[in-house]
Amino acid sequence: MINLEGKVALVTGGANGIGKAISKKLAEAGATVVINYNSSESKANALVNEISLLGKTAIAIKANVSNFVEATTLIDEVVSKLGKIDILVNNAGITSDNFILRMSEEEFDKVIATNLKGTWNCSKQAAKYMSKQRFGKIINISSIVGLVGNAGQSNYAASKAGIIGLTKALAKELAKRNVLVNAIAPGFIETEMTKVLPEAIINQYLESIPLSKFGSVEDVANMVCFLASSLADYITGQVINVDGGMVM
Ligand code: NAP
Repeated sequence: MINLEGKVALVTGGANGIGKAISKKLAEAGATVVINYNSSESKANALVNEISLLGKTAIAIKANVSNFVEATTLIDEVVSKLGKIDILVNNAGITSDNFILRMSEEEFDKVIATNLKGTWNCSKQAAKYMSKQRFGKIINISSIVGLVGNAGQSNYAASKAGIIGLTKALAKELAKRNVLVNAIAPGFIETEMTKVLPEAIINQYLESIPLSKFGSVEDVANMVCFLASSLADYITGQVINVDGGMVM
């Protein structure tokens, strides 16, 4: 049984999709959860209420993680409001797909800024507090696209591969301070976005998944809870695929 009572967790982009499932599961396991949002204020507040109804504590904080000052202030605010930060889930992410010949410099830069630099920004400030308290779990949401690439996603694949390198470097840097850093590489996860794909495309994807089904947001959230818990206290610097066997 996973028990995160007494822990303070921050989930970036925690109001939607996979982030929402992660926020809920961490709260259900007993953690006090900070839901970061950038534009989804009402969804973040609704989730705070939903978690409160479970008898658990959550607050919402607005910040654009791609902005260094906002990301740093976000982490400082978590600590000033809740006294510490034990678990950081770098989940916030965007896509802006195009083949390289058509992709603009702006499309490349904004995906790298949110996905990769946002993860670095939050990790840098969280590492300061976690190192001092000699405890921390940083869990970065990468993607199998960062492992195997995907046509039309040179920006996204580079950002997600970058997150894997960042994860391993930080795991080595911070291990002596008992700060553990891991990445999760989800495969095809069913979200609002994927529900609207044409049937032919969906069937094509399904054929490439040994378990013959898409993942759920809960599948990813379960792995986050495991890595955040004491059950995973001997695991650091790893990339764990949650992908139904798609990449092996
Ligand atoms: P989603 O529903 O689009 O949610 C993305 C979240 O990121 C939103 O809550 C959004 O917050 C937040 N966000 C975006 N830019 C931000 C910024 N600058 N600052 C703070 N928050 C920001 O996407 P999802 O499918 O749940 O994906 C979550 C993570 O899983 C992403 O890192 C994604 O790359 C990864 N992933 C997803 C899949 C999949 O199949 N869905 C597969 C592999 C990996 P606001 O709405 O408040 O702006």
